[in-house]
Amino acid sequence: MIKRQISFANHGYQVDAPDPCPICHRHSEIEVTRADLIDSGKGVQVIYRCAYQNCRQFFFGYYSKIGDPTLIRTSPIKPNSSSFPECIIELSPLFISIFNESEEALQIGLTQIAGPGYRKSFEFLIKDYAISLAPEKAAEIKTKFSGAVVNDYIPDPRIQAVAKRSLWLGNDETHYLRKWESHDIDDLVNLIKLTTNWIEIDHLSKSYIKQMPEA
Ligand SMILES: [Zn+2]
Repeated sequence: MIKRQISFANHGYQVDAPDPCPICHRHSEIEVTRADLIDSGKGVQVIYRCAYQNCRQFFFGYYSKIGDPTLIRTSPIKPNSSSFPECIIELSPLFISIFNESEEALQIGLTQIAGPGYRKSFEFLIKDYAISLAPEKAAEIKTKFSGAVVNDYIPDPRIQAVAKRSLWLGNDETHYLRKWESHDIDDLVNLIKLTTNWIEIDHLSKSYIKQMPEA
């Protein structure tokens, strides 16, 4: 962790500096502009500035109290969106937009909102994928529970295996009690991304087989 010296009321303190910049996401130098106590001394706020010449944005860093160097959060931030394969963007644009919103919620610290958001994004992904495999069953797929869609309309066992686990963890994000206590939102995100990777493999393989039929 990179340290920065901040000072106010004639005292200097070392604090953990934000890294990377929360706006351009580069590991550039972060300059301290000003620091002071806030909330009647219950917190410390620092105005930082990114030194990268195409960014130069100011932003705040928040600390709990004098002497505690731990950076609690920075604000504002520009969400760093995950990228997805072209076929996933075409298959389910709503999955992409809900996933991105959830990612933004997570990055600004709204963890309780992010989890159900990821769960919702996954429902769109899996239903849109199922509909692409069986377009004649679209009406049925749209009204079924996601678990039933995975069981009944996703024939590839590898995709089915990761999709089921995504749903298990996704349900944990929306229910009062957690079943999978040693797994968290990071695992859910990994499983959703794994599912998109398998869908891409399936999609690309089929399209090459179609383009290049055996003689
Ligand atoms: Zn920057």
